[in-house]
Amino acid sequence: MVTSGIQTESQRAGLEHLVRTLPKVSLHCHLLGSVQASTVVQLARRHRVDLAGHTAETLYDHDSYEDLGEFLRVLDVVGSLVRDLDDLHRITYESLTLGGAAHQVLHREIQISPPGHPGVPYPRLIEGITAGMRDAHTDTGITSSIVVGLCREDSVSQAMEIVETVIEHRTDEVVGIGLDYAEVKGAPAQFAPAYARAGAAGLRRTAHSETGPPRHIEVLLDELGCDRIDHGYHVVDDPRITQRCVQQEIPFICTPVSSDIGRYSGSGDGSHRRIAQMVDAGLKVAIDSDDPPMFGTDPTHDFRALARALGYGLEELAGFTRNAVDACWLDASDKAALRHRVEQQITALASDAAAPHD
Ligand SMILES: [Zn+2]
Repeated sequence: MVTSGIQTESQRAGLEHLVRTLPKVSLHCHLLGSVQASTVVQLARRHRVDLAGHTAETLYDHDSYEDLGEFLRVLDVVGSLVRDLDDLHRITYESLTLGGAAHQVLHREIQISPPGHPGVPYPRLIEGITAGMRDAHTDTGITSSIVVGLCREDSVSQAMEIVETVIEHRTDEVVGIGLDYAEVKGAPAQFAPAYARAGAAGLRRTAHSETGPPRHIEVLLDELGCDRIDHGYHVVDDPRITQRCVQQEIPFICTPVSSDIGRYSGSGDGSHRRIAQMVDAGLKVAIDSDDPPMFGTDPTHDFRALARALGYGLEELAGFTRNAVDACWLDASDKAALRHRVEQQITALASDAAAPHD
């Protein structure tokens, strides 16, 4: 039960400590959306590309991303600058270390988008990313895998082509597929054959549903075979579908800050209305940060923003991480090991919170 927001300085400091040290499991973070603006500027210099006078300070204009088209346009610019193995290694490494382990992210399933990397063949894409994953693990202990996103604005045959390519070049790091870009330009049902092909090859399946009607959630579950949903805010508009998802314990991976800017999870007023409704309905919600630097956030800040707005404390925030552990696509023994680490850290946080302070 949520009764009030943070009241005092000491409660504020306690929350700050909590959101910084809380163990996190990241299931909804896009590689291209997690490139720091300073890195984009350096990549542009390296490849002698003119950024039309933009600096690291002006490149990402968070508030303009209320318009999804504007956000995707900037994303394309970033993608066009990531050209070789060194670039791919760098952006993956930075996303997992500065943008991951530094925020107590223990495991991330990185969402990538092959169509966002024009000119980079899929095997090279995977080679550069996995090299960055390996070095990030060596240096910080963070584990990671890859979810390959299909672009719903592309044709069904292009989506199928990506699935076939993923299967042809199968590696252990690639654990599943997703579906992203503008939902109004690509309803989910048409991608059922590509999803069926992926499922038959043993790939796990998720998909974005950020703006679509609640009916899309059922399409993702029943026709695409998804076992978790990215965003899914409109589920709460249909009590029957909400109840079904509660009963089936379907995980929803919500991204408070980016979705608030886009006015998908609420009204752009920081109230996170739909996420609150989802939690109150008993849905299995996890939290991540989508495209962190592009939306002026990071894994810690998404927890901070939600906790401040909705008065959540250790119990609720730890619950989000536990839900992410349940929803992740590690095999059973690795998942058990991750769960053990998460529980150890949550126990330490709880005893810390209970200890008397001056
Ligand atoms: Zn996303």
